[in-house]
Amino acid sequence: LRARAAEERGLPARTTDGHTVEIGANVNRPDQVPLALDQGAEGVGLMRTEFLFLERDRTPDEDEQYAFYRDMAAALDGRPLIVRALDIGGDKQVAHLHLPHEENPFLGVRGARLLLRRPDLLEPQLRALYRAAREGAKLSIMFPMITSLGEVLELRRIADSIRADLDAPQVPLGIMVEVPSTAVQADVFAPHVDFFSIGTNDLTQYGLAIDRQHPDLAAEADSLHPAVLRLIRMTVEGAARAGRWVGVCGGIAGDPFGAALLAGLGVRELSMTPRDIPAVKARLRGLDHGALKALAEEALAAGTAADVRALEARLGA
Ligand code: PEP
Ligand code: MG
Repeated sequence: LRARAAEERGLPARTTDGHTVEIGANVNRPDQVPLALDQGAEGVGLMRTEFLFLERDRTPDEDEQYAFYRDMAAALDGRPLIVRALDIGGDKQVAHLHLPHEENPFLGVRGARLLLRRPDLLEPQLRALYRAAREGAKLSIMFPMITSLGEVLELRRIADSIRADLDAPQVPLGIMVEVPSTAVQADVFAPHVDFFSIGTNDLTQYGLAIDRQHPDLAAEADSLHPAVLRLIRMTVEGAARAGRWVGVCGGIAGDPFGAALLAGLGVRELSMTPRDIPAVKARLRGLDHGALKALAEEALAAGTAADVRALEARLGA
């Protein structure tokens, strides 16, 4: 099976009844792109830009960021690239930003909350991204840790004024769904965003109230918990009301059974660690989307994550 997955990794993730799921890679650096493409990635569904800040002891300026995004897009040669605006806070701390200490960083000023409080971080990043777009980079921008509509409207307003200033083209603007409030209100957000990408690592953490890094609770922090699946379903349904697509870029997207369930829930794009791609594609290619939709309904009605996982046997080898 593994040999076949490797052989067929360049083929699309098309189910036996002709439904195609887009497959992206979670990649942060241009030099990692060739490997991702070789594994069968069709683009980059999540570029975590905090790595630009974490890997050095100072803040990269606008020009450095511009060069980086340009190179990333060039490596992808016209394939889609979703760049996530800086997601600092929580588990991602950067000493040289000198942020105040917080008792509960996961519930504090992280992601979009930090971006809106620190124009000195947000604006150079957006300028760098729009400059890259102006030079032909095919990219989308997404904002992390969105919890309210006000944040979305304000981020869009800032992005658009920077775009106009630079005389740059429009680029799709999406949001991450990482907290229950955003999943529940997806229909309210949908008219104001171009796409949604669900961060199941954080959505599981905030949905189940389990620290994503807690060593004793790792087994309970299962993104296939039916409550998390219901939040995903709400996001897909809310997004569909305004015709928006939904992807998943959290770890569960790279799990073959998880990927199958997500496809059944109506998720259109999955982005994962490159090495997970061949097995996920092989899994989806062997399945019927109609059957996956029925399986997803059963998973939504299940009592526990273990009950959901037991449904895998239904899919056969
Ligand atoms: C997530 O939360 O699932 C996600 C993709 O973002 P990160 O893991 O970078 O927090
Ligand atoms: Mg996250």
